Amino acid sequence: MKAIRRFTVRTVLPEPLAPLGRLAANLRWAWHAPTREVFRAVDPDLWRAAGGDPVRLLGDAGADRLAALAGDAPFTARVAEAAADLDAYRAEPRWYQRAAEEAAAAGREAPPAAVAYFSAEYGLTSALPQYSGGLGILAGDHLKSASDLGLPMVGVGLLYRHGYFAQTLSPEGWQLESYPEVDPEGLPVSRLAGAEGAPAEVAVDMPDGERLAARIWVCRVGRVPLLLLDAMHEGNSPQMRAVTDRLYGGGGEHRLRQEILLGVGGVRAVRLYCERTGHPVPEVFHMNEGHAGFLGLERVREYMEYGLGFDEAVEAARAGTVFTTHTPVPAGIDRFARESVRRHLAGPSPAVPGLPADRLLALGAEDHDGGDPGVFNMAVMGLRMAQRANGVSRLHGAVSRSMFQGLWPGFDADELPIAAVTNGVHARTWVAEEAQELAARLVPDSGEFTGPEGWRKVTGADEAELWHMRGVLRTRLVEEARERLRASWRARGAGAPELGWVDEALDPEVLTIGFARRVPSYKRLTLMLRDAERLRRLLLHPDRPVQIVIAGKAHPADEGGKRLIQEIVRFGDDPRVRHRLVFLPDYDMALATALVQGCDVWLNNPLRPLEASGTSGMKSALNGGLNLSVRDGWWDEWFDGSNGWAIPTADGVEDPERRDDLEAHALYDLVENRVAPLFYDRDAAGLPKRWLEMVKHTLVSLGPKVLATRMVREYTERLYQGAADSSRHLLADGAAGARELAGWKRRVRAGWSGVRIQHVDVAGGQEAPQVGGELAVHATVVLGGLEPRDVRVEALIGRVDEGDRLEEPLAVELKPDGGEGALLRYTGTAPLSRAGACGYTVRVLPHHPRLTCPVEMGLVAVPDPPQAMDDGIVLR
Ligand SMILES: *Cc1c(COP(=O)(O)O)cnc(C)c1O
Repeated sequence: MKAIRRFTVRTVLPEPLAPLGRLAANLRWAWHAPTREVFRAVDPDLWRAAGGDPVRLLGDAGADRLAALAGDAPFTARVAEAAADLDAYRAEPRWYQRAAEEAAAAGREAPPAAVAYFSAEYGLTSALPQYSGGLGILAGDHLKSASDLGLPMVGVGLLYRHGYFAQTLSPEGWQLESYPEVDPEGLPVSRLAGAEGAPAEVAVDMPDGERLAARIWVCRVGRVPLLLLDAMHEGNSPQMRAVTDRLYGGGGEHRLRQEILLGVGGVRAVRLYCERTGHPVPEVFHMNEGHAGFLGLERVREYMEYGLGFDEAVEAARAGTVFTTHTPVPAGIDRFARESVRRHLAGPSPAVPGLPADRLLALGAEDHDGGDPGVFNMAVMGLRMAQRANGVSRLHGAVSRSMFQGLWPGFDADELPIAAVTNGVHARTWVAEEAQELAARLVPDSGEFTGPEGWRKVTGADEAELWHMRGVLRTRLVEEARERLRASWRARGAGAPELGWVDEALDPEVLTIGFARRVPSYKRLTLMLRDAERLRRLLLHPDRPVQIVIAGKAHPADEGGKRLIQEIVRFGDDPRVRHRLVFLPDYDMALATALVQGCDVWLNNPLRPLEASGTSGMKSALNGGLNLSVRDGWWDEWFDGSNGWAIPTADGVEDPERRDDLEAHALYDLVENRVAPLFYDRDAAGLPKRWLEMVKHTLVSLGPKVLATRMVREYTERLYQGAADSSRHLLADGAAGARELAGWKRRVRAGWSGVRIQHVDVAGGQEAPQVGGELAVHATVVLGGLEPRDVRVEALIGRVDEGDRLEEPLAVELKPDGGEGALLRYTGTAPLSRAGACGYTVRVLPHHPRLTCPVEMGLVAVPDPPQAMDDGIVLR
């Protein structure tokens, strides 16, 4: 069969149906139910068979059916109407355009002309299997929300020929992987054409004179173009073709090449795209995780080509770059062998020519305490190449600041310039059509959903109607689960006669708990099995039974994860409980949709604080599900005591076995004593009043927060806008600002060893200070070769904790107050607002209006000798 040559027959639509092709080619159908209805009308059975993929549907429809539809006037009118709606959606002014107008009217800086968003994976629809988990889903939701908000964004990624793997089970319940090949001709993407119609191409040099050329596929995500780079074509050597074979497949070197293509080739693709289409040129570049970090190097090269030196170019690139970190564990970070990076980026045919090798390698060097000198760390480079950085929930922001503290020695973790923007989800992708219809009926103006008011109106819905809707969604899940279960058992070798029980598996009336996620060990897929007997009792409870629907993929190289899946599968194979606990293979967006819509309770029990954010529970909440979760990621921030349940964690317990035991028992207790009783407590009309109250409270308290539009607005207002402002300042007048800033930093770094704090005292330090009073702080400072305007002198004052450190100190700037010769005197007064054992200290930091915060450079001078710091004042 090897002799077979593939070719693709493109569907040619009859003229009256041409707009159908345009509708299929824009992924807006993935979140626009009326457009999907038009496709369903082409042929409901084919639509189902095509898994809701319009490109496949049109390919399968056949010329006769299409010809008939072309003559069906009501149908062509519907198609024309849907196409007009898409055109309006793409053209009409939205939030961004209104914000831009307001900014102009108020004389504020304009919002960024465009933002380029780089990610190694995108979860946009199950028809485009280019994602493995939460990171990709988040990237997909980010693009869709940017589109809804009218934010001009260009996405950049890779087109993997095998995407992520499809999962099935062996008869023994072991995970099996297959990698169906993706043919871009059958995907909702189109080729970017170059001059004279040939495919547009970008190329990156590789070691040994190899050249890696990528073609560019454009995927239309509403208003947002997503550029997908594809190395699998005849212009590349077989080795280079393999670069875009699989998502997260292969080891170090393979992955390094993927990331070089994404970052370096990606910037080149953005340039080419803007040139060919007139799309606004991005002012801000967003690295979604370190995988995209190499984009910074290409941007440095561009600025050097423009005439800047390396340091100046780094400043110019940093100012317009945002970096988001997504992992709370060092093992989750991409680290490459330094030598490998040198070979690719600073060897004889470097991917990014013209950069000084030592400086380039220093950007990713782990030169902090405990770092590995042989390693090039992508997150470290991300933090150095982006002036603005963030984690993905409040807790994860704090965890990230501790994790990267070594990069800013001399500062407390809370001071690090790593902010937090909590993730969100794209409602129209994840919320059931029934729920969307109900919401639209009660709140015609969808703009009201940005605040609690709109949600309050939704919860004014009739309770019987709300409960009926939950029942419809649960029943649909049960039906879908049975279908998938049957297919899975067939694949595991069971014959039809053995599978009669599947018709009775799960019960549309029983409290349904969902648990679906990737299977790294920290997510603890099998925590619920700690006491198998107790779990069985919960499942089989005579009056208040629960049923659990489970899904998840283990990374192909993760044997431990596969063992966990096998344990769960085996437990569910037991005829005593197989109707109440099911594992459904091949967790993807389609299955996730059914689960988050149909489950009453969404369970999450990670090992705190290892879940950076998590988003599946947000999807469940928007559908009227209740979260039952360890207080980790987003749930730590937004659980309010009555919008679901928090599983208590045994944070301080060192022994992991004991910790799992404690937390598992807390979980059983909650399900048995709180969750199930609430669900089964019905009034005379059969309604669970108190349950519905909790659902309503969930919608009002979480609805406005968990939206990805809230998240993208936050990125825009808190990070993109600042990055655009900084970048404009540095680039104006032939990049005068970048030259000035780089020169200033050089001078300050060189002169910093001369900065000293000679003496510190407080006025009236002997008398007992009182709350409500003030403390006058004086410091004598030597600046060496630096000027007073280069520094900020500040006093930190606050309570002293057991470790002799200041707790959340207040910083008060000290102002120049005379002095003689090289000795400068600084003075300021600090309010004394809290009683107890307090302390203060003084420090000198670099100051420049273009730093985002004084910590940015990592330089600080403190009193010398250190004992002068603490006069140990006690407030009464
Ligand atoms: C939402 C989603 C995720 C992320 O969910 P977590 O809560 O982070 O585990 C992963 N995979 C799929 C298919 C999803 O839809």
